[in-house]
Amino acid sequence: MDMSGGRPGSGLIGYGINMYKPYCASACHDSIPLKMHCEDGSDTMPMSDGEAPMPSAECISTSTPFLQSVAYCVDQKCPSSLTLDARNHWWTYNMIGRKLDQPKPNITYEQALQSIKFSPPTATLSSDGVLNSPVLVNDTEYVSNYHASLSFQGAEQAHSATSIALIFICILGPISYSLLQTYLKVPSQVSQKLNFDAWRSPQYRFKLPIIGKSTARLPTYGQMLAVALIWIVNIILSSVGYRSYQPNAWFSSARLEILTYVTNRTGVLSFVNIVLLIIYAGRNNPLLMATNWSRSTYILLHKHVAVIATITACLHSAIYLQIKLANGTLSVEQVLPYWIMGIVGTLAMTVLLPLSVKSIRNAMYEIFLIVHILFAILALIGCWYHIIFRFQHQWGYETWLYVAFAVWGAERAVRIGRLLMYSGWEKAIVVPLDEDYLKIIVPTAQQSPFEGGVIYAYFPTLSWRPWESHPFSVAGPALEWMTPAESKTVKENVASSPDLCEKGIIQLDKTQDGNLTREAEITQESPALKSDDTDLLATEHVEKYEKDWHISNAVSINRGITFFVRVRNGTTKRLAEKAKQPRAQNAKACTLPVLLEGAYDRGEIGSYSTHGIFATKLQTGLSLTKTTQFSKVVCIAGGVGITALMPMLHKAARAQDAHLPTVSLHWSSRSAALVDTISLMLKVSSKAVVNETERRGKVGLLSSHFVIGQRLEASEVLEEEIKGAKSDECQILILVCAPSDMAKVYQTRVAAYRRSGYALTYHEEQFTW
Ligand SMILES: Cc1cc2nc3c(=O)[nH]c(=O)nc-3n(C[C@H](O)[C@H](O)[C@H](O)COP(=O)(O)OP(=O)(O)OC[C@H]3O[C@@H](n4cnc5c(N)ncnc54)[C@H](O)[C@@H]3O)c2cc1C
Repeated sequence: MDMSGGRPGSGLIGYGINMYKPYCASACHDSIPLKMHCEDGSDTMPMSDGEAPMPSAECISTSTPFLQSVAYCVDQKCPSSLTLDARNHWWTYNMIGRKLDQPKPNITYEQALQSIKFSPPTATLSSDGVLNSPVLVNDTEYVSNYHASLSFQGAEQAHSATSIALIFICILGPISYSLLQTYLKVPSQVSQKLNFDAWRSPQYRFKLPIIGKSTARLPTYGQMLAVALIWIVNIILSSVGYRSYQPNAWFSSARLEILTYVTNRTGVLSFVNIVLLIIYAGRNNPLLMATNWSRSTYILLHKHVAVIATITACLHSAIYLQIKLANGTLSVEQVLPYWIMGIVGTLAMTVLLPLSVKSIRNAMYEIFLIVHILFAILALIGCWYHIIFRFQHQWGYETWLYVAFAVWGAERAVRIGRLLMYSGWEKAIVVPLDEDYLKIIVPTAQQSPFEGGVIYAYFPTLSWRPWESHPFSVAGPALEWMTPAESKTVKENVASSPDLCEKGIIQLDKTQDGNLTREAEITQESPALKSDDTDLLATEHVEKYEKDWHISNAVSINRGITFFVRVRNGTTKRLAEKAKQPRAQNAKACTLPVLLEGAYDRGEIGSYSTHGIFATKLQTGLSLTKTTQFSKVVCIAGGVGITALMPMLHKAARAQDAHLPTVSLHWSSRSAALVDTISLMLKVSSKAVVNETERRGKVGLLSSHFVIGQRLEASEVLEEEIKGAKSDECQILILVCAPSDMAKVYQTRVAAYRRSGYALTYHEEQFTW
């Protein structure tokens, strides 16, 4: 079995790369003993340890008896359907071996046959004989060699076929599912059953012995179905298409033969799963655009495919270890570079799994990310050299790795492209709302590419890791939503820059009738913006604030973006600390460079508009329901989760169109400052104040209900909202964007209401993957 490096092949075995076809010719070649005298000293007489010696390629190419014997065998054993061209091709390229720079036989196939036309061989070579004249093949050996090449190449072709099948199923599966959902008109009862809403899956808590307590959510039914299918497809494809051919020159038993094929299959499937896990993990995963499945669904698939890739890699290694142990060659193999690199690859993949558990990601996300990428690179390097050291580029096993590198590279390139296309070296103004929340305004950013989506913000000067980026939901435009004092800050910090003038911000500083300039408006002081103001909720202050707001808002400027940040432990904490510094020194507001990548997930929620089938993706990824088909949308938000809903809320607040569903917002927030800011943005402030901890208001199609520092009672909220929703015409969409524990309460309640016949659709948005 020649599996060492040879001429590079392109493609996969059976798909561009041939191993041993025509099998009859390969079997002839392998069945003629290489016992010949060689002038170059690579003598071939049996060695003392009984191992068959290997003559040099030069020696074989000039050994006329050997060439004659093989040619005669090919003539006798191969079917007449094997054309002369095919015979000649095999003779030229495979007769001597598969090396790139090997000599060609010094006589052609036809010449070899011609030379023995009148004196064909009549006997096989005796066990102690030397090839001095042409010989016949030993029939038993021929059959055994024929079986070896036939079954090995057959198995390898099956590996290629299953690997192609796996990639197609796992890519086309989600696409076909989404298309079917879009274009098949499913009756509503059936679609209710088929609608794999998240509410069906209860959240559960589990305790892991080492890692400790962790909260996890079971996937939705749709996600579970997708995950189960991926596992089933992998198990089936690892198990089918094996056939043993005995007697077999390479495998002494059918068990060993099948075991070898299984381990090779798992190796190939592991590589394909690596490709899939890279595709699924990408921010720019093309499947996100081609299907209605959400990013969290693909992240879930990424995790499962990663586990499968690791298990198959471990199986590949473990079975080979067993085989080498059994045949006593382990001591020789285990020091070979290919073996060592295989161990590196497998170990790197194995270590990645426990290092990626949720508790580690939560505790130290930034370290997790760096380690994750480094180990992923190590795993790929290990896999690559495992193949190259063992086979060079002969059998195309590295093809899937090329695909993996290409997918990864392309994804990173698209990120850079998105960064360069829509964002420059922007300036972010970081406004601390209180200890826990920051408002970040990027006044120079273009608005249209980012509106209503999630951006990845890079703050290159904030830490020693300038490549680090964090996702935030774009809450809305910047200038239009700025309070007067913030306008002032912008003006002081940014507006004087020629860059901003070039971008037209200054020209836009006029109202439509030209009477009021931003110059005038920024001279007004806003009480709500004084951070030491203890009476933010006092009605007269809110009214004053709102008055200012209206003045400010008279200017319609469609530039810049705003997002809100909940301060946590890493980058967000550094941002908060940075924002505090200038204030402490009584300096201007904190500004720092920012790069914006995105926007991602635009129109997922928070948007009335739809753009074909790709626009409204509910988290289950399995429903294409547009918000307009609901009579009402009930938004439940917790803390900074409000930001993901802002585009929808903003539109609802401005909308008068009777065809659009009404929107009810229930939001609980610990931060009064955040409530103030958001209230002003939605223009629901003055009429909203019920008491110190509660506000209610109505503007446009939006009814709002905010509670500060208190819990929203899920039963009361839902009771209030879903009255009369017990018919198909009165579908209500419940959108929840809240911390996991809070979302769980709503999920369970909605599930109960649905079971008792209410026409509710539940969608949940989490700020975590
Ligand atoms: C789609 C999406 C939209 C989001 N929108 C907002 C928003 O509008 N406002 C807001 O305050 N937060 C938002 N978040 C959460 C925000 O990205 C994290 O809170 C932020 O990255 C925390 O940074 P940190 O370094 O301070 O976190 P750490 O204190 O180091 O970690 C806190 C938590 O954030 C998670 N996290 C940290 N970095 C990332 C990252 N790059 N990608 C995913 N998760 C991460 C960690 O798993 C951990 O659970 C959003 C998250 C997602 C996935």
